[in-house]
Amino acid sequence: MSYRILPEAVVFLNPPYKYIIQRKLRCSPRRCAYVFPPPELLSLASAIANLNDIKLIFIDAIAERLSLKKVVNKLKGYRIRELVFMPGFESFEEDLKTISKIRENLNEDCRIISFGYLPTLYYKDIFQKFPLVNYIIMGEPEATFMELSAAILAGNKDLSHIRGLAINESSGITVSKNRENSIDLDSFPLPDRRLLRNDRYADPFLKKPMTSVVTSRGCPYDCAFCVNFYGRAFRQRSSENVIRELKQIVTDHNIRSIRFMDDNFTVDKDRIIEICKGIIDNKLRLNWTCLSRIDTLDRETLAWMSESGCRAVFLGIESGSQKVLDYYKKGYTVDLIKRQCRLIKESGIDIVSWFIIGAPVETAEDVKLSLKLSLEIDSDFVCINELQLMPTTALFRISRGSFRLSPVEISRLRRKFYLGFYFNPKIIRKTLLRLAKKPEGSVFFIKEFFSAIRAKYIEK
Ligand code: SF4
Repeated sequence: MSYRILPEAVVFLNPPYKYIIQRKLRCSPRRCAYVFPPPELLSLASAIANLNDIKLIFIDAIAERLSLKKVVNKLKGYRIRELVFMPGFESFEEDLKTISKIRENLNEDCRIISFGYLPTLYYKDIFQKFPLVNYIIMGEPEATFMELSAAILAGNKDLSHIRGLAINESSGITVSKNRENSIDLDSFPLPDRRLLRNDRYADPFLKKPMTSVVTSRGCPYDCAFCVNFYGRAFRQRSSENVIRELKQIVTDHNIRSIRFMDDNFTVDKDRIIEICKGIIDNKLRLNWTCLSRIDTLDRETLAWMSESGCRAVFLGIESGSQKVLDYYKKGYTVDLIKRQCRLIKESGIDIVSWFIIGAPVETAEDVKLSLKLSLEIDSDFVCINELQLMPTTALFRISRGSFRLSPVEISRLRRKFYLGFYFNPKIIRKTLLRLAKKPEGSVFFIKEFFSAIRAKYIEK
């Protein structure tokens, strides 16, 4: 086939995988029933959407349940200028193999571009093991990608001036100067959801269709296990800019269910209240969920959140044992967790609590305390992860490899935790009530529960 005469395209691919997974910057948890739009990949596609009139192809093979063969078929008929992807954490190696197989079916001059947490760390290994990958964007990707894409379009051979880029050439690997994170998040183009099949996404707490929105980057806290890819400097979009995106979502796509994907949506109280007021004043009639940190919430914020449509908050509780919380440097107490959860419940918002099992200092008794706490705070759903020591985290540096619990014990305790929670009479009663009120959402919960007790993937 002569690729020269085919129309040119830039492809953004969330690669196919054997399971339904949600690829995020720092993890790729297994899902059973639902996924959200991949915000990082969409942000990159949107960054160049208006730069030139080249065709953009966005394929979310996970949401669309596409096999490798189907992806290859979709790309037939194009000369691909760039293929951009972010590998998952647990699917890392397999994703790179998948991309290499897809690459074999594309035109010779297609450039493969990767980005994300692991590629930034392991660019050398990737280039050596998967030489078909041409470029890796290090750190925050948008600005680097825009420059790289423009340079490829212009046919520039020398890319060494582009900051934040690792280049794989026959003469060797080169890495350009570091790029600082962007300060002004309002300057990013709004995500272009026309690229997505919006009907393919769901959130168990919200009605379909739904979409994901990111309003900030970075987190000022310092939990010892956390990757915090965008650093401790908290950068946020203005409330006006966020409301502009929400209005566009409602008007252009008729979507009223939103999952805010920020690592910690509620860091800045004033901004959150402004966003809530904006949702109410503009009569957007949204339902939404978000990730939050227990000590960033108070009664006033929760009241605004609830009034503007917040249905559930996802909280990284991590443990019911003060010893383990201190080990993780969470910076709050078990008592505070209890008090704050009471406030959340009083405001009518559901709680999804995340716990981690497997801190080096943790014992089976500590896990019991976590189960007890999850019930005491009236969680509506729990998600229990086994601790993963991620490179670049404080825990990775300090833990000396001596763990009180063995991997087998951790797995067993995790399963026991799930069973102890979901088979508690109070939770069974609540689930049955939910089933009667919202059967669709409950099916999601049940499927997710079985997925959770089967899978080992870390959520945070
Ligand atoms: S775990 Fe949450 S609160 Fe802690 S540093 Fe990471 S994002 Fe911030």
